[in-house]
Order: sequence, then structure tokens, then C-alpha cells
Amino acid sequence: MDVVRAHAASLSRDMSPARSSRALRALVRADAVRGEDVERNPELFFAAHRAMALRANDLGPGFWIRFTVHYNLCAGTVVALGSRAQRARLRGMATRGELGCFALTERLAGVNSGLVVRTTADWDHARKVFVINSGGGDGGVKNWISQGLVADVAVVVADLRVGGKSRGPHGFLVRLRQGMTRRLTRGVSVGDMGKKTTGNDLDNAWIRFDDVAVPHDALLSKYGGVDRKTGEYVTKKEGVRTMDMIGQRLYTGRVAVAQAALVFVRRLLDDTKRYSDQKMCTMRGASPALSDVPQLRALYQEGYATLDRLDAYVAGCEKELCTHLRAKTIPSAALTQAIAVAKIKAVETAIDLAFRLKQEVGSYALMSGTGFDNTDFLQCCKFAEGDSRILSQKLARDCFTAFQQNDLESATGVKSEIELDLCQRIDEVIKDARRANPRIDKIEAWDCAWRDVYRLAEVMCERIMHERAFKAETHRSKL
Ligand SMILES: Cc1cc2nc3c(=O)[nH]c(=O)nc-3n(C[C@H](O)[C@H](O)[C@H](O)COP(=O)(O)OP(=O)(O)OC[C@H]3O[C@@H](n4cnc5c(N)ncnc54)[C@H](O)[C@@H]3O)c2cc1C
Repeated sequence: MDVVRAHAASLSRDMSPARSSRALRALVRADAVRGEDVERNPELFFAAHRAMALRANDLGPGFWIRFTVHYNLCAGTVVALGSRAQRARLRGMATRGELGCFALTERLAGVNSGLVVRTTADWDHARKVFVINSGGGDGGVKNWISQGLVADVAVVVADLRVGGKSRGPHGFLVRLRQGMTRRLTRGVSVGDMGKKTTGNDLDNAWIRFDDVAVPHDALLSKYGGVDRKTGEYVTKKEGVRTMDMIGQRLYTGRVAVAQAALVFVRRLLDDTKRYSDQKMCTMRGASPALSDVPQLRALYQEGYATLDRLDAYVAGCEKELCTHLRAKTIPSAALTQAIAVAKIKAVETAIDLAFRLKQEVGSYALMSGTGFDNTDFLQCCKFAEGDSRILSQKLARDCFTAFQQNDLESATGVKSEIELDLCQRIDEVIKDARRANPRIDKIEAWDCAWRDVYRLAEVMCERIMHERAFKAETHRSKL
């Protein structure tokens, strides 16, 4: 970890994308964190993410996103979905200091669409290659791909088609750039997404694939692949879909994002408090420090207490997830739900605290280098690895489905009076909407109850955090 911390400390502000990507190449070559660590040493993997997040207050979101895209989304997906030989390629990539990106999002698809994508990968049995295409129009063009303008390889999520039959989204490890000059692979075109309000040390690309032929071993095939001899699709593990395994990296990502948001806002509180402790105010009698004005003092107290509670909660999720990562097992529905809660609560709380702190510290909050200039880091946390709104919708939908099925056993279902009450209200609103318009579709009817839907998600978040804190406390007192 010392090498990672030293590397994080050495990063300078206002880096160009070229300099920032060179800095990541150097870290990859140093081999202090390895692509494989997400499974072999997950504690190091998360600690390294936190070390990088500690610099986000002065660097902005760019380098942290670069880091997590390379280690979690790209290398992490190869580790989760790749065969032994494919995982071994990560070693060569590290020695050469090669960078990876993760191409999931399209103009009309992505995490929000449940990973369903328009990009296709057709198995061409005669040539023994997959042919990747973005398709007509621009709906299937990958966009917002972090590091896409410099990455050597990409994990491309595409709909695998074998003999014309769709097998759903699969991951392909595709070489984007070739040789010493890093020229683009034939059929790949890229462009810049344009200047952003923040994180311009990170390149974001759109990527188009036109008849890009990739070899048989580009398909990350641990769970499903194509038999090279017969050209048939083969399922390697019954009941495990490749798409679900792509989702696994979103769980590690969600824990890393939750921790990054908490690290960011704690540092914002620390730095601001250091300033307000020595900033004197007039007409304050015996307690002239800005930190002592009642609203700020209360905010610091509340802020640190809330962060302590959230840190402990997310650490609990991390610990449980690490056990699964090491054992290569799939987290339970309850842990998946707890991780979604970690992401929603950590990010929303961080945004709320940062905003309220900004209102209370006068001119300081406008100064460059205070961290307030980089609070859009939290904005990035909000939509990364599953948008907080979409996660909230899923929490509420799972609970409501259990309610409709009268399923009291489900780990993700109704667990309190208030949740039951909210489910009943949602049910009534949906029935009213159907009575008013019998042809109303499912989504429109559900949207009619949107306030109660988000309220239900919020109530569930609080209940789940409380339950897990209680369990942890009971466990500690038994020891
Ligand atoms: C800096 C940056 C880096 C990125 N890096 C990558 C990358 O490396 N690889 C990659 O694949 N993608 C990447 N992305 C894409 C990112 O994952 C998407 O931007 C994100 O999924 C949100 O999609 P969107 O911006 O199109 O939101 P939109 O779909 O336009 O939605 C906007 C907002 O509407 C709300 N919303 C949308 N749909 C629903 C719904 N069904 N119900 C309720 N509310 C809803 C949400 O609050 C959402 O934030 C990156 C994006 C950015 C900005």
C-alpha cells in the first residue's frame, strides 16, 4: 500500500489527460496493485481505491475514475468472466503498462437498461472470429467510455449471437490499439465526448465498431462460450448467466464508490474545520472561532457522527463481500441489497453534507483548492456503477413484488409496518390509475406512485442500515 499512497501523493493538480494516463501506466507497471487483487487480495483493492479517493478533493474525479475503470471494471471483469488463460493476460498487460477501459454504455443502453445492449458480436464459424458491430444509426455506439481515447484494450459488452440466435450480453476482451504507435484496430473509430464541467484530466470517448473481427479467445468465456469445432454455444456452469457475472463488478464498484464518497466528504469536513477553527468572527464574545458558531458546530457534530455510522456500515459490506470475492461465490440477495443501500446512502449523505457545509463557511467555499471546487466528484459517484435513483427503484420494486405475492420470507421483501403501509399505498395508487385509464401501461401506472416509491426505498435503506448495525453490535458484544 505504501507504493500506492506515494503514487497518489505524487499526482499533481491540473494534469492533462496524457499526463494523467501516463501516471496510471506507471502505477500499473509498478505492480503495487494487481488486476487479480479484486479476488486475491480484495482488502488491498478497496484500500487502494480509498487512497486514490483521498486525492479527489484537490484533483477532482478524473484520476479516481481512471483507476477504478482499469482495476475494477476492466481487469476485474476479466478476472470474473475470463478463463485461466485470459486472466493470465493481465500479467502481460501490467508488465507493458497497458491500460484498459470498460465499454458498456451506449447512447440508448447501459447500466440503466439492465446491461441489455445494442452492440452485437456474431460468431463467424468459417473464419473462427467474432464480428463486433455497433449497428446502423448511433443507438449502439458506446459513449462516455472513460480512458477510451488512450486505452490499449477494452472489455466490450455486446450481445453474443451464435448461428443468428442471441445469447445475451457477453464480455469481450478487445485490443483497441496495436503496436508501438498504438494505432486503432481496423474497424474501430473513436471520438472525444467533449469538454466536461469537471474531470477533464480524464478522456471520455465514444467508440464505434464496424465489422471488427476479434479472435475466438476474445470472448470472456468462464461461464459461456462458443465451441471452436462445432460452432455451438456452450454453457459452462448451469444456472449462471454471463450477464449476472458482469453485474458482479458493479457490486465491488458500488462499495468502492460508497467509500470514495465518504472519504471525499470526510476530508472536506476536516479541511474546512481546520480553516474554521482558526478563522475569527466578530461579535462572538469568548468563542470567536468560526467553528463555534452554533449552526456550524452542529453541522460538524452531525456530519462526523453520520460519517462514522456510514463508514462502519460500508466496512461491514466490504468485509462480507471480500469473503465472497475470495471464495468466488455470488453474494446473497440480502448482501446485494445491502450494497445498493451503501451506495445510495453514502453518496446521498455526502452530497447533502457537502452542500450544507458550503452554505455555512462564507467566502472560503468559493476558493479554489478547498475541495468545494471538486464536489462534482460526488455527482460522478451518483451515477457510477448504477445510478442511485435506479437502485432506489429496484429496492422498492423488489419489496412491492414480495408484497403482491404475499411473500413474507423473501430477504428483499416487506420487513416493517411502514413498508407494508407504503406498499398498500402504492398498490392503491396503481389501482386508481388503472381504473382511470384501463389501457395504462405497467411503467406509467408505477410512475403514478413515484413519491411513495422513493419513500419506500428510503425507509428500506434506514431499516437495513439499522438491522445490520444491530447485528454487528450483537456480534461484537458476544465476543
Ligand atoms: C465521467 C463519466 C464516466 C463514465 N465512464 C463510463 C465507462 O467507463 N464505461 C461505461 O460503460 N459508461 C461510463 N459512463 C456512463 C455512465 O455509466 C452513464 O452516464 C450513467 O449510467 C447514466 O447514464 P446517463 O447519463 O445517460 O443518464 P440518463 O439515462 O440520461 O438518466 C439521467 C437521470 O435520470 C434518472 N433516470 C434515468 N432512468 C431512470 C429510470 N428508469 N427511473 C428513474 N430514474 C431514472 C437518473 O437519476 C439518471 O441519473 C460514464 C459517464 C460519465 C459522465
